[in-house]
Amino acid sequence: MLPNLDIREDIIATCKRMNAAGLNIGSAGNLSVRIPGGLLLTPSGIAYDKMTPEMIVEMDDDGRYFGDYIPSSEWRFHYDILKARPDVNVVLHSHATSCSILACCRMDIPPIHYMIGVGGGSIIKCSDYAPFGTKELSVHALEALGPRMACLLGNHGVITLGKTTESAFKVLEEVENLARIYIGTRALGGGVLLTETQMDVVLQRFKTYGKQLKDMDPSITERVEPPPHGGPARG
Ligand code: 13P
Ligand code: ZN
Repeated sequence: MLPNLDIREDIIATCKRMNAAGLNIGSAGNLSVRIPGGLLLTPSGIAYDKMTPEMIVEMDDDGRYFGDYIPSSEWRFHYDILKARPDVNVVLHSHATSCSILACCRMDIPPIHYMIGVGGGSIIKCSDYAPFGTKELSVHALEALGPRMACLLGNHGVITLGKTTESAFKVLEEVENLARIYIGTRALGGGVLLTETQMDVVLQRFKTYGKQLKDMDPSITERVEPPPHGGPARG
């Protein structure tokens, strides 16, 4: 049986979901997932609805690929990001429209809405331009990412990261929405940016957001407080 079949199927399903959600166009974009000793990556130039698990390409930690299919032309940034960022397992790239509009204007997304915090900071930076599929683009991408979970690629698109395909997808959804919001505020003459201090509070609150009480670190005091607890669920 094909090794890592479940991961291969998840890669294809996530790419189809990305296109169905309007977060990418055609065979643009690519997705990689870390596996022991290397990574699995979408093949180059194949439509997602024609992609089958055996077409997903394995690369090893030395940067070699195996099998009959050529990996994504962006194998360099997938390989380099997974190497440089042990905190993530997934690299997702798309040409989402609003992200690409900002990328074509070479604009960062500033702290216009508190949800910018899902990118792991108070800004989503746009990289310098380099041709697709080059080492230079990979260097620019790593620089624009810094320690964050997303960046725009100058005159190109967007990269998001995650521990899982689901979390990288969610970051992409959110960053595309932030890009739309930012474009809208600019169209109205400019929004009010959050300050670094306001963003620090948001980033603290994100540490416990969505967690149940048993999973919360009690030393974090800046958090979303539930109402007073009245006891066990009532039947
Ligand atoms: P691949 O089909 O080679 O992955 O290229 C798509 C792309 O988005 C290049 O940046
Ligand atoms: Zn691309």
